[in-house]
Amino acid sequence: MFLQDDFFVPFWKDKNSKLICGFTLPASGNLALTRKSLTSGKTTDQNRLDLSKKLNIDYNCMFSPHQTHSDIVIDVDEQKKGMGALNLSNALDGDACVTDKKNILLLVTWADCVPVILFDEKNSIIGAIHSGWRGTVSDIIEKTIRTMQNKGSKIQNIYASIGPAIRNCCYKVGNEFKTTHFSDNFYNEFFHQKEDGLYFDIAGVVYKKILSAGIKDENVDFYGKCNCCSKEVDFFSCRKDGKDNFEGQAAFIGIFD
Ligand SMILES: [Zn+2]
Repeated sequence: MFLQDDFFVPFWKDKNSKLICGFTLPASGNLALTRKSLTSGKTTDQNRLDLSKKLNIDYNCMFSPHQTHSDIVIDVDEQKKGMGALNLSNALDGDACVTDKKNILLLVTWADCVPVILFDEKNSIIGAIHSGWRGTVSDIIEKTIRTMQNKGSKIQNIYASIGPAIRNCCYKVGNEFKTTHFSDNFYNEFFHQKEDGLYFDIAGVVYKKILSAGIKDENVDFYGKCNCCSKEVDFFSCRKDGKDNFEGQAAFIGIFD
């Protein structure tokens, strides 16, 4: 992953010259429609309009779900194009989206939860995921990849990029969180007992799930640094900024003619 213009972009971006994809930085302002814009001096819909201009696309090409920490994967067809672009009134509930259509920008937002974008190089099928802990344990990663496969993707042709997300340096959880939701042995290595409590590496879990689904490790771009305490970028973070004040970055992907 590297910085290009105002975004982090995956190393596989240049595999298709028509691919528009990346992860926004806080400089693009809040892009989550469920959150207030506090730092950009603009409203969220203005921030989204600015983003579409920067990407040189019509804002009506965006598809952005109303994220509810679910395991719902939305199959985005031409009729759904534009839904949730600038407001929630016409947004569909869900936390992942997939399309095989051109000229649609899939967009999800995050602030500590794990953002993932997916690209099938051969069939031009794409996906975007907001994987919070609820979605992660409900297998939203696997369900999104399966949706791509049902549309014709072969697992060996899929590239993935895992953006900035909270890690075990900052994500403190209660013991009951592990025993209630993550008791399966699959998750053991991602819980770390420290002197002051238990810490969870949700970004690591998502990485493991992507590999377990069969995506080749050399096709995965993993940002790796913690969204909450990264020294590189002062990201919007739910843990750091507080539940009432946090804003959201966006992960986006589309193939444009
Ligand atoms: Zn951290």
